[in-house]
Amino acid sequence: MAEYEAVIGLEVHSELNTKTKCFCACKNEFGAEPNTHCCPVCIGLPGALPVLNQEALKKAITMGLAVGCTINNYSVFERKNYYYPDLPKAYQISQMVHPICLGGHIDININGKPKTIRLNHIHLEEDAGKLIHDNDGTMVDYNRGGVPLIEMVSEPDMNSAEEAVAFLEKIRQILLYTGVSNARMQEGNIRCDVNVSVHQKGTPLGTRAELKNINSFRAVERSIKYEVDRQIDVIESGGKVVQETRRWDDDKGQTFTMRTKEDSQDYRYFPDPDILPIHVSDEYVANIRATLPKLPEQRKQDYMQIGLNEQDADLLVSNKVFSDYFDAVCAIYNEPKFVCNWITSEVFKRLNTEEDEDINIPVCANNLAKLLKMYKDGVINQAGARQVFDEIWIHDSDPVEIVDKQGLKQLSDTSALEDVLKKIMVDNPDAVESFKNGNTKLASFFVGQVMKATKGKANPKIINELLSKLM
Ligand code: ADP
Ligand code: MG
Ligand code: ZN
Repeated sequence: MAEYEAVIGLEVHSELNTKTKCFCACKNEFGAEPNTHCCPVCIGLPGALPVLNQEALKKAITMGLAVGCTINNYSVFERKNYYYPDLPKAYQISQMVHPICLGGHIDININGKPKTIRLNHIHLEEDAGKLIHDNDGTMVDYNRGGVPLIEMVSEPDMNSAEEAVAFLEKIRQILLYTGVSNARMQEGNIRCDVNVSVHQKGTPLGTRAELKNINSFRAVERSIKYEVDRQIDVIESGGKVVQETRRWDDDKGQTFTMRTKEDSQDYRYFPDPDILPIHVSDEYVANIRATLPKLPEQRKQDYMQIGLNEQDADLLVSNKVFSDYFDAVCAIYNEPKFVCNWITSEVFKRLNTEEDEDINIPVCANNLAKLLKMYKDGVINQAGARQVFDEIWIHDSDPVEIVDKQGLKQLSDTSALEDVLKKIMVDNPDAVESFKNGNTKLASFFVGQVMKATKGKANPKIINELLSKLM
């Protein structure tokens, strides 16, 4: 059988987290009572005029700069005309010929192999309302209608479902680092259309199908795998793949034909006569560039500069919540390696990583900094530090007070510990004999016994010093 290569291009929509909608003053807020954030502009009543939200423009440019786009000094809003009940104006304000951002790229890494996925452009447009289907019929909520969206269109540079997911994850990460979107999957902040074709390497690209109704990264992966197999089957059985839009059915795990013909000319795009072309000056763009938040790659380099290894740096930047937390703790207690170790072990262990979205670390940076300082200074030992952390994980309280109240201070009084150790040595002559004969592994036995006798409060460093002194 011939060897097929999958070719994938994504069109990723992301809602911007502006205060108000894209062309009116209605609130941009998820989860409000249906149809409470609506006005003549966003539900398309006659005579209402749209005004571009400058915050939306700025956020679109911010994302463009973060992924290396060229920002167009001149861009134009067009009307994309079609009828659907979630679109009361019967057109969507979008951009086509002159989008705000051109080019750019997303760099992914799969099993240590880097790859660059080119973007064709990013444009700014408005979201449609939301249809809600239930047993009595279909209802529509126009709160989402008019919310600003950026659409990021990739070149067909991906060749597997894994690459497509890595691309989306990277986009989500950058959206969060730049702060332009809440990037919550379950609130529909990121949605994508997936274009899939297959061909034999070295031959022209095959005909693509566009997959819709994909609501999770998992669905992206499953739908691509299904669609690639389906297209190969079509070709192998002597058929031809037709260009069409297919609907992904997540329960059935299959794609189904929705509509076969639809070209951009069918939408009769034309410049929106109500909105003037957008001119942005080089100076305006330069200003946004100068205040661009630090991106994951840059933070990673910074972390390696201050002595973290690459693996730890990657772990911290994998989620903005972690790296912000790390930065906040280090700003109070500047022991990067020590802080990093605690976060990647004790914090990670206590988080439910299954729920990847909206991670919340319940201990404030200040309290962790205080705890780590006590641990590092030898006021408490590791067991004590963990015990206190368990407690402040539940009610973020002052670790210094907990240590005082619960008497968790480490025993660092050498002469007191020496007495304890001496007694244990008397009680365990065989172990002492063996230790003296070179069985140094028994050190942990003696440390354990001293710990037991002191209810876990002894300073292990001092016990070890005493062992070498007394043996
Ligand atoms: P249209 O103008 O019809 O929407 P575009 O050229 O804008 O088509 O492409 C839309 C998306 O489809 C892009 O993400 C692009 O990468 C992807 N794409 C184009 N051709 C193919 C193909 N042969 N196989 C897979 N994806 C493709
Ligand atoms: Mg397109
Ligand atoms: Zn409105």
